[in-house]
Formats: sequence, C-alpha cells, structure tokens
Amino acid sequence: MIEKNKFSISRDSRKILCPVCESKRIVTRKLSESFPYGSGKEEVTLSAIVPVHSCQDCQFEFTDELADQAKHNAICRHLEVMPPRQIALIREQYNRSRAEFARVTRIGEASINRWENALLIQNSAMDQYLYLLSFPENFERIQQRNYHSFRNFLAGSEQQPYQYPILIPTEKHKRDSVAFRLAA
Ligand SMILES: [Zn+2]
Repeated sequence: MIEKNKFSISRDSRKILCPVCESKRIVTRKLSESFPYGSGKEEVTLSAIVPVHSCQDCQFEFTDELADQAKHNAICRHLEVMPPRQIALIREQYNRSRAEFARVTRIGEASINRWENALLIQNSAMDQYLYLLSFPENFERIQQRNYHSFRNFLAGSEQQPYQYPILIPTEKHKRDSVAFRLAA
C-alpha cells in the first residue's frame, strides 16, 4: 500500500524527507500505477509511470505531487487533450502572463489558471482553440482583431466597422467543397 504524502513536496529528490521518521535516506523508483477513470460504462483503467519514494530507515513508501501530475497527464492523453505543461508553454512562448493571455484570447483567466495547475481539464473545443493559438500567426491574428475592435470603439459609429477576412471558395473548392482560400 502506497500512502499519499503532501508534506514533503519537492522536485529535488535530495530534499525529500521521510514524513514518518524524517530520514533523508530516500530511494525513488519509477513504478507503473493503474487507476480507474470515469464512472459507469465510461469507466476505464489508465496507467501512469509514477515516482515512488521509499525510506531506507523505516521502509515507509510514499508519493508526492509528481505522481499526481503523471496521473493527470495520463488522463489528458486518454481524453486526447493537451496536458497542463503544454498549455503553459503555449502562453509562455508569447511571454504573456495569464492575465495578458486571457485578455488576448478572451479565455477566462481563472480557467487558464485551473488548466495550467491541473485543477480542471479543458474541453476538446477549447483544446482545439489552444492548439490553434500555438501557431504565432493565429495569435497575431486575434491580437489584430482585438486591436481593430478597440480602434472602432474609440472612433465611434461613423467609422467603418472592422472588415473580417472573407472566405472565398477557390476553383478546387467549387469542385470538391474542401479547400478555402483566405482573401486579404
Ligand atoms: Zn522513514
């Protein structure tokens, strides 16, 4: 039986203390842990590789938040959505704080915070939006859209509203209804 321990949280294994006897002689192994996810007919068994710490003095075994992260990532893989770290990396590649990223994307800051801290998993539509935001040209595009909306707001009603790009079907689209060309 592995007990969950929330007290000796550390990424640095040298700083891990046994929560029972406070020994520093901790050996960490990576073990595959299976756990149920979902309920009823939807229930599945997922598995994750989790670090398990063993105290060499009192033999107590425990896990920390790295095990929780590994299991959360396994759930994200199962749901086919990005794990928390990947969402944070998308935001960080633009050097934006969560508040700034929220302003540009119009995603709630609380949601971004929960996703990045593994407190909540984004739905698949939001995951697709985040995926698109990982491409700089798309991020730039919505920033431009925000900028134009703001300018129109300041200019008042006599100004031309922002012209959205119009999707014009190409010859190929007319043939098979698949391709679109983005008109400037
Ligand atoms: Zn111990």
